[in-house]
Amino acid sequence: MKTAYDVIVVGARCAGSPTAMLLARKGHRVLVVDRATFPSDTVSTHVVHPLGAAALARWGLIDRLTATGCPPIHTYTFDFGPFTIAGSPGTSDAPVAYCARRTVLDKLLVDAAAEAGAEIREGFTVEEVLIEDGRVVGIKGRAKGGETVTERARLVIGADGRYSVVAEAVRAEQYNERPPLLAAYYTYWSGLPMDGRFETYIRSRRGFAAAPTHDGLTLTVGGWPHAEFEANKKDVEGNFLKMFDLAPEDLNLDLGALKLL
Ligand SMILES: Cc1cc2nc3c(=O)[nH]c(=O)nc-3n(C[C@H](O)[C@H](O)[C@H](O)COP(=O)(O)OP(=O)(O)OC[C@H]3O[C@@H](n4cnc5c(N)ncnc54)[C@H](O)[C@@H]3O)c2cc1C
Repeated sequence: MKTAYDVIVVGARCAGSPTAMLLARKGHRVLVVDRATFPSDTVSTHVVHPLGAAALARWGLIDRLTATGCPPIHTYTFDFGPFTIAGSPGTSDAPVAYCARRTVLDKLLVDAAAEAGAEIREGFTVEEVLIEDGRVVGIKGRAKGGETVTERARLVIGADGRYSVVAEAVRAEQYNERPPLLAAYYTYWSGLPMDGRFETYIRSRRGFAAAPTHDGLTLTVGGWPHAEFEANKKDVEGNFLKMFDLAPEDLNLDLGALKLL
């Protein structure tokens, strides 16, 4: 079968772009499509744990990330109330983690895939996965406002996240499924003295974490059991801020002195 591409990768964020980059570096003809354009954000805690940072180093990309001013994280703490576990998350080869804004990390990865020779089509939505004789042979999709186009490849890789059209088309097996357990919210703060720590606090029916990210900001994520989602939705900010009352006193968290962005 003669095709324009060896591989089509659907989804260009932290799974899709490195996959495309590594395949392109080996000389394969790769097309990457994503309905998003970059830089753009997506919801996640965005901690790249040390082994992820090691992968970036192996691919020659870690210096690009540190050049963006992303601070290294050398200590993780898990505060359970009665006791705290703290330590270094890394190994001697990969000592630190990074909490990189997805606007920065994903763009860096897309650019690296393009540099390796992959063709990147941003703002392109896959509407259908082409299947012939029981085998995936390509995709159908369109750029915003454009005509439907068909692209064919020997291999189509689904890196299109939750509700993946590729996984659905091939009826990928689902396992380890759980009902929603948690309702979590994200905020960015300035003025928190994180000093290279990723801190997690586990309390009764509440949990929150903080990690230093780009631009001198700290990402916090916190929430409550999904069973409280509807009731707490009426005042998300109030409930979120009340959660920080559960922070240990020696943290001296003066919310008034901090700035919620
Ligand atoms: C709340 C939360 C917190 C998390 N915290 C962490 C963390 O701290 N550390 C960590 O390592 N992981 C964390 N994760 C997991 C991590 O964020 C995900 O595993 C990771 O984002 C998955 O990356 P991905 O590239 O597979 O998919 P995604 O980041 O979901 O990207 C999928 C891409 O596919 C594109 N796409 C989807 N459908 C189509 C279509 N039909 N056509 C074209 N494009 C399409 C989307 O536009 C998107 O850009 C967290 C996840 C969540 C939800």
